[in-house]
Amino acid sequence: MKKIVIASNNPGKLREFQAMLAPLGIDVLTQEQLGISEAEEPHCTFIENALAKARHVSKESGLPSLADDSGICVAALGGAPGVYSARYAGDKPKSDTGNNEKLLRDMQGVADRRAHYYCVLVLVQHAEDPQPLIAEGEWYGEIAQEERGDGGFGYDPLFWLPQLGKMSSELTADEKHVLSHRGKALKILLQRLNMDAG
Ligand code: IMP
Repeated sequence: MKKIVIASNNPGKLREFQAMLAPLGIDVLTQEQLGISEAEEPHCTFIENALAKARHVSKESGLPSLADDSGICVAALGGAPGVYSARYAGDKPKSDTGNNEKLLRDMQGVADRRAHYYCVLVLVQHAEDPQPLIAEGEWYGEIAQEERGDGGFGYDPLFWLPQLGKMSSELTADEKHVLSHRGKALKILLQRLNMDAG
């Protein structure tokens, strides 16, 4: 498997996958490059949405597809925004800035700031693959009181890492890959494919 299509149009995710997979000699294509439409994400669990995206893109491309469904789950909000992270503040258009502003509003006066990122990866070899490879990763931190830093994407300017004394937006790309929900999930997936990223 040297060529896969990433089932996502999120530039932040694509950048991270390209950085992590290119050194392994894997040719990463995006669904946009192939003119493939975005799949519906009608489900209320990450895994169901990831499976739907991977199967859709593999069907349209005829190639193996890797889907990532991810989000941030805030303890005091009962796990919200969760699967709705990308469209927390609405989807016309989806906006990281709008999402972060809404999260800060919803967390105003809330003392318990615990949160975690979650990522599930699904790799299908073809659209009807009966045995998709599935891997999960989590990353624990807190929701800060205000945005800081300009690395990463999405909620990274609000994701505080108390042990490091930094926001996830203040990590280098390589540091984030080692620690993040996505990096951990990808490492597990690659181990199962016998393609360890190290
Ligand atoms: P999905 O494309 O439906 O999986 O939405 C994922 C959303 O979760 C993104 O649009 C971000 O808002 C958020 N998210 C997932 N991973 C990260 C991350 O590594 N940093 C910041 N935000 C993330």
